[in-house]
Amino acid sequence: MKPDYLIVGSGLSALVFAALMAKAGKKVQIIEAHEFPGGFGHTFTMGKHYKFNAQLHYVWGCGEGQTVNRILKHLNLAQKVTFEQYDPEGYDHMKMPGYSLEITGDSQLLISRLSQLFPESAANIKHFILHVEKISNAFDSFSSAGFNLKSFKLPYAALSIFKYRKCTLQDVFDQFALPKEAQTLLALQWPDFLLPPEQLSFHAWVLLFTGYQKGAFFPTKHFEHVINSLLEVIEKNNGTIVYNREVVDFVTDNKTVTSVKAKDLISGQDYVYAAENIISNMDPKKTAQMIGTDHFSNSLRKKLDYDYSASNFMAYCAVKDIDLKKYGFGKWNVFHTGSLDLNEAFNAMYHNHDYSNPSFAICTPGFLTDDTSDRPDGEQIIEFLTVADYAYFKHLRETDKGAYRKKKKEILNAIIDSVERNYIPDFRKHLVFKISGSPTTNERFCWCPQGNSYGSVLTPENMNIGRLNYKTSLKNLYFCNASSGFAGFAGTFWTGAKLYQTLSGERIL
Ligand SMILES: Cc1cc2nc3c(=O)[nH]c(=O)nc-3n(C[C@H](O)[C@H](O)[C@H](O)COP(=O)(O)OP(=O)(O)OC[C@H]3O[C@@H](n4cnc5c(N)ncnc54)[C@H](O)[C@@H]3O)c2cc1C
Repeated sequence: MKPDYLIVGSGLSALVFAALMAKAGKKVQIIEAHEFPGGFGHTFTMGKHYKFNAQLHYVWGCGEGQTVNRILKHLNLAQKVTFEQYDPEGYDHMKMPGYSLEITGDSQLLISRLSQLFPESAANIKHFILHVEKISNAFDSFSSAGFNLKSFKLPYAALSIFKYRKCTLQDVFDQFALPKEAQTLLALQWPDFLLPPEQLSFHAWVLLFTGYQKGAFFPTKHFEHVINSLLEVIEKNNGTIVYNREVVDFVTDNKTVTSVKAKDLISGQDYVYAAENIISNMDPKKTAQMIGTDHFSNSLRKKLDYDYSASNFMAYCAVKDIDLKKYGFGKWNVFHTGSLDLNEAFNAMYHNHDYSNPSFAICTPGFLTDDTSDRPDGEQIIEFLTVADYAYFKHLRETDKGAYRKKKKEILNAIIDSVERNYIPDFRKHLVFKISGSPTTNERFCWCPQGNSYGSVLTPENMNIGRLNYKTSLKNLYFCNASSGFAGFAGTFWTGAKLYQTLSGERIL
């Protein structure tokens, strides 16, 4: 019997969609190219002892009544998949030469902290933060009702959403005349977008910044448990998943997608899977290119013509015989920049491959949960994330493997030098494990075109009313991926659930 839904890829939006459909009694089958489920959210084991999540660090939308919680409740998983909250008084610690700021969900407290740092700009800071809060509330007011004017309960903020739709974060910082240092402290979450303020959509920044303000979380039993729990729902309801099988073509007949062709990456054997409906969790542009873009409507072709978000450099490390608490680490992330200007810092690393004064994020998941199953006793995991250029790394890897490895080593050393200068003087002495991932690592293990981090680049052009959604202009084919919804853990939970709602008619969000 053909499955009702054949799903290409097991990223988060696909797993959420599949779990909801399977629970509703539909027959679902997932085909995944990797050996592990989860896409960007997969967990891998290194040596006997370490478990690292490929990309996920912290998430929003998981508090009581929030998007992820509502979906988990619907799947009867809310008791099983629980989350620990980051320190609400300061879940992100922003550090730059001469200044530091703890970001809190309490906007008044944030205004007061920033005003103490920049007393001459207190009025502008207050105006900016309160404005951001209003816009965020307006987004909330229509996120469940759908994007139409009637759903706006706050007309003033609705107008602001419209007003800033084409703005970058830098444009709005400039309009509010915020001091450069305050801008840098507020935009230091840039690794969460892999874009600097001068390119980042103001709306994307508002959604993520205020999403974390409403609660930053880490799963009690790690991200692997979240993925496995979704899979359990799928499998308990007769859904199936096959691994190591790469979809290489979509078969179309008169504007209808009828099946996919896949290759088993272990045996080399070819397979054809027919289904009533096909859901592509793969990158939408790659899906369309496989089918042939001329099969799609003109308006869809335009939407599919997006640039990818920048790729990244990740270092997965472990330290021993050291109490990171004594060095300023805890239930928060640390975001560091050595340079006052984040646009310059980003360009130096991304365009000039110059990491001599790096800006990066530091995550220490061991502070968030008592579950230590990800590491040996007495050790702490510490991870570093920054931007990296795919084309540059791809060229190095293809032309000179030694130079490729040397560049990875150079970036990690530059980050560790900065950590030793600014946070932990004898960091290297305690470092017992390190491995790093480049843009080509992302491409190989997350199957993301050009090693992209968040799907389509989060510029104002891609974050507007005409954003790509689940519709493909072909029969029986639907997109279900960060680029056809929203990126991030909560964003892709939302994307999977919204597609479920559309196709099943059942409302859960
Ligand atoms: C460095 C980094 C850090 C991040 N940190 C965070 C964070 O802290 N918090 C947060 O909320 N979000 C974070 N994200 C974003 C988040 O991980 C993603 O937005 C989200 O996981 C994307 O899910 P998705 O459903 O779009 O699918 P994807 O994760 O893109 O999965 C697609 C799946 O399709 C499979 N696939 C692709 N092609 C084929 C094929 N031909 N055949 C079969 N299978 C195929 C892939 O193997 C993959 O499993 C981060 C991302 C990056 C890169």
